[in-house]
Amino acid sequence: MPRKMTVLMLLTLSSVFACSQTTEPQAKSILLKANRMLDVRTGKYVANAGVLVENDKIKEAGPLTEVQAHTPKGVAIIDLGMATMLPGLIDCHAHLLTSGTSISSQEVILNAAAGMSPTARVLLGAHNAREDLEAGFTTVRIVGHSGIDGDVSLREAINQGWVKGPRIQAAARKITPPGGQALHLNPAVAEQILDQEYLQVSSADSARKAVRENLLYGADLIKVVADDENRFITPDEMKAIVEEAHRSKVKVAVHATTTTGIQTAVDAGVDSIEHGDDATDAQLKAMRDKGIYFDITQTFFGGRMRAMIEKRQVLPPELQQELKAYEQMDAKKSPALLQRILKSGVEFTVGSDMWFDYPGKTRGEASAIMFGALKELGMMPADVIRAATVNAAESLGWQDRIGVLEPGKFADIIAVSGDPLADVTELERVQFVMKGGAVVKNALAKK
Ligand SMILES: [Zn+2]
Repeated sequence: MPRKMTVLMLLTLSSVFACSQTTEPQAKSILLKANRMLDVRTGKYVANAGVLVENDKIKEAGPLTEVQAHTPKGVAIIDLGMATMLPGLIDCHAHLLTSGTSISSQEVILNAAAGMSPTARVLLGAHNAREDLEAGFTTVRIVGHSGIDGDVSLREAINQGWVKGPRIQAAARKITPPGGQALHLNPAVAEQILDQEYLQVSSADSARKAVRENLLYGADLIKVVADDENRFITPDEMKAIVEEAHRSKVKVAVHATTTTGIQTAVDAGVDSIEHGDDATDAQLKAMRDKGIYFDITQTFFGGRMRAMIEKRQVLPPELQQELKAYEQMDAKKSPALLQRILKSGVEFTVGSDMWFDYPGKTRGEASAIMFGALKELGMMPADVIRAATVNAAESLGWQDRIGVLEPGKFADIIAVSGDPLADVTELERVQFVMKGGAVVKNALAKK
């Protein structure tokens, strides 16, 4: 079916539905209570806290006695006991439509783009989406590797209630220099494979066209790969992308690891930089001044990924050496970069960049290892939590709907059993999840 027709049908159906609702359904209210609630803006607890939920939104949040005073009689109560309530977590850098047991991105991407049908990829995405939600991620931003529009279909399926998953912002295909990213392919079949994953651009005009194409297929944001090996998006192309995206009020997230790639992105006024490995202090300052977010995604730090790799396969000695050398370099570089980020005053968020299978963990549990890793790098728990809630919501442009527990926001609420300001790895063991007023998981319920 042509895409336009699907959209038209949906519009028609929803307007019919809207017209047929002559009487307002009764509001469904739930009162959540817990030992404490974290105000993520201030990093302070509210003791004996209550959150009143009405339908899918928060009506009131604060000290239980105050909230109770405005709570209608006979409302359903969920008692979370000694737990701590926080806003639902936000993963700013997810790839839900890939998986794999290889540590080679070439193999994982090839398997997804050339070895799976688009339908199978969306079903894989649905599986990962449910696991993310159950781990406490109530919103994720998918930044590529979804096929042509698989992440858009997944978002729609979740929004329609067909499958369970977080709120999704979808980037559709990454915009890249010619050749895509990290793939070395047989030239005879390269274009067909690359076209599943990337929109390759080689001029400002083709860059504009790529943005429009993604928007046509329903993208919420534009993801650009500024640099890959020795290939770059040019300043003219980046400016064209940003202008075209911003005209449609869509944000631009840029994969940039080199100083050159970062500078091109900063000069063009993009909205966030992903990874940012080689950012200089001057670039961090320019990002701060321009309001560009730094999305921290170093997945390999702290030996956390090494454990995953070694559990899975016997590594040849050369690769073990290579990994060790990388880790030693990273063990010095990542904490230093993190301190420079924090000192610079640039706004920061976190993204898991989880695109493969982690033995013994669901996709959501694997994504959550970033919280402990950031702590090991020297980030204060309150900053880690802000990065994954209020900052992330602002970076996504959704500060009016998610990221804090305040009246009018969606009732996306999680709870952990312990004290996340004392031990931020509590976020790796989320016990209660509510999305839009519906309970997804409650491991705290009294048996
Ligand atoms: Zn990524």
